[in-house]
Amino acid sequence: MNFTHNSRKHITKKTVAGCLCLSLAFLAAAPLSAWAGPAGDIPPAVTVPDSGTGSGPAGPGGGGSVTIPDTPPAADDSFYNQAIMDPIVHPVDKYSYEQMEQDILALAARYPGRISYQTIGQTLDGRYIYDIVIGNPGAQKKILFQGAIHGREYIVVPLMMQQIEYMLAFQDSGSYLGQPLNALMGQTAIHFIPMSNPDGVALSQLGESAIRSPELLEGIRAMYAADVAEERTALPYEQYLVRWKSNARGVDLNHNFNADWESLNPTLNHGSSSDFKGSAPLSEPESQALANVIAQNGFSAVINYHAMGQVIYWDTNDNKKAAESYDMATAASGVTGYQIMGSKGVGGLKDWLQRETSPIAGITLEVGRSACPVAFSEYPAIWEQNKGIPCLFLQYILTH
Ligand SMILES: [Zn+2]
Repeated sequence: MNFTHNSRKHITKKTVAGCLCLSLAFLAAAPLSAWAGPAGDIPPAVTVPDSGTGSGPAGPGGGGSVTIPDTPPAADDSFYNQAIMDPIVHPVDKYSYEQMEQDILALAARYPGRISYQTIGQTLDGRYIYDIVIGNPGAQKKILFQGAIHGREYIVVPLMMQQIEYMLAFQDSGSYLGQPLNALMGQTAIHFIPMSNPDGVALSQLGESAIRSPELLEGIRAMYAADVAEERTALPYEQYLVRWKSNARGVDLNHNFNADWESLNPTLNHGSSSDFKGSAPLSEPESQALANVIAQNGFSAVINYHAMGQVIYWDTNDNKKAAESYDMATAASGVTGYQIMGSKGVGGLKDWLQRETSPIAGITLEVGRSACPVAFSEYPAIWEQNKGIPCLFLQYILTH
């Protein structure tokens, strides 16, 4: 594919009246409502989250986790409850890197002037990390939604792509809790990085055939042999790859940030499908790309999508944004029904940003209930729980 990866074609403010009307000609596509679950049908949280960052429990004031009332959030007439005619993003099982690239191009073609994209880095196996920007790129308030830093958690990618498409499709006509969507988006630069670890996603989805570099493949086989020898895994090789979280050289990217990094898994000194923190904080191209884009933008908040557990993490040691982050977790819990967890994260992107000299508030949202990779049959429920999250946090950063 001839994908112009350095293009940054944000055409400012231009009315795209007719986009939705035009798409009415393509009614053959199944509307989202055909598979969407009932609003507010939020299953109970499970208790074995896969945070990759958790340590001991501690809530605000040491209170541990917070119980969310059973009552689901009230339904409203927000735009994301409507169907998009002829949608570009079709969530499917194992929604791939290539599909994401095609959908980014198609969204840019359908919504000229309303979406831009750039690559912020390249992986060891040659894939690009995409930063997609909607809203007003020149706005002072900026927010980042980041996902799939862990390979096997790829179910968050179609979720985030669908969140993007909804905001574009309803930018003129939509509202959120009585506020015009266009006004919210006009005051905010909204960045989405839906696939921070594309090599890890491809490896989990496709196995060995995903990896193009013979050296990387050799390294992956050696990691499996070492993990078997050390009894870190009892899985057959193919299943070991399905459960892959790391990048292509076996570094767990959400252990690769400078937040109590030294204390993380000190005895694991080789690459692995998970948990290896790397040779130093920010040793990997993917974590460097995230750090760079964050340094360049000055985000007010960062939302991190992971899977699974239906829980929300908000804390770390020496958290300089504890009050704001807990506030955000409470707001997100009200929308998703997910349980707030008090664990203090170690080595993760969120944890690092909360402790930096210029700290950034943030949360980690863990979607899905089943084992990872989350079964695609859960996608409709995940969409229902998370479709309103971008608007919730646009409103949040505009009022904080
Ligand atoms: Zn994760």
